[in-house]
Amino acid sequence: MKLIFLGPPGAGKGTQALGVSSKLAVPHISTGDMLRAAVRNQTATGLAAKAYMDKGQLVPDEVLIDMVRERLSMDDCAAGYLLDGFPRTVEQAEALEQISAPDMVVNISVPDVKLLERLAGRRVCGKCQGTFHISKLADEEVCPVCKGELIHREDDKPETITRRLKVYHEQTAPLIGYYSAKGKLKTVDGDNRPEDVLKNILASLE
Ligand code: AMP
Repeated sequence: MKLIFLGPPGAGKGTQALGVSSKLAVPHISTGDMLRAAVRNQTATGLAAKAYMDKGQLVPDEVLIDMVRERLSMDDCAAGYLLDGFPRTVEQAEALEQISAPDMVVNISVPDVKLLERLAGRRVCGKCQGTFHISKLADEEVCPVCKGELIHREDDKPETITRRLKVYHEQTAPLIGYYSAKGKLKTVDGDNRPEDVLKNILASLE
């Protein structure tokens, strides 16, 4: 199955993708994770992307389209994929139709006020990449799973969050209509307990 998770930053796409990709036995491909790895490894793509990411802006379409084209050509994508964070513009969606068109698109919907709360309190482990909310942490600096250092992502700081949400509404939300017109869209309420959201996503795929 070729699947896309659509939704604003903080909707829980990454968390839900872990459960769904193992269930469907397709690779979870997060363009945000790929770009952050490129920044850490100081590759040409990483160096070009960092300034956009830190400001909460989208990295240019051609960079993402090339990156995703290369990733989807790998052997592990033969049975499908679960894309998280791509496409984010109509231009990217059009390119994906040519590369490997999705079968279905799950739109995870969460109101902006909830997203602000989630993103501002989000901490990511620098070692295992786990994601946690400060309300559930005994120590805001230490990963409860692997004891790695917890990081407050530069783009999860309040002023950048507001910009990311604006970018989402202006550039990514039009994809809801785009995929709905193709008859491929399922919308799931993401403002629920993660286990319930997972259940609803799996039900929507049946
Ligand atoms: P994410 O972890 O998906 O929220 O992505 C973090 C940042 O990476 C975004 O704010 C963008 O700057 C960049 N990014 C990730 N995916 C894309 C994409 N499909 N198009 C453009 N920029 C992206």
